[in-house]
Amino acid sequence: MTDARPATLDDMIADELGVWLWCNNCHYHRSMDPSPLADKLGGDFPVPDVGRRARCGSCGSRNVESRPDWTSRSIGVVTRHTLDEDG
Ligand SMILES: [Zn+2]
Repeated sequence: MTDARPATLDDMIADELGVWLWCNNCHYHRSMDPSPLADKLGGDFPVPDVGRRARCGSCGSRNVESRPDWTSRSIGVVTRHTLDEDG
């Protein structure tokens, strides 16, 4: 089953998603382009592990979480869904 496998940086690139980083210390957040991350960490690097390698750009904390940035394509999903209903 593939649903037990964490999303990787290659998955983010294939799906045109960003990598969402959130600082648990100061709540600073941003979405990163996965391509330079994949160059550095490898395409099969799990997205949830990116935050463990990251440092907050605002406060310098290493208490950072990462996940796929679903919001980066939510508009496209809504549009596609609307088209499906129409057809
Ligand atoms: Zn921070």
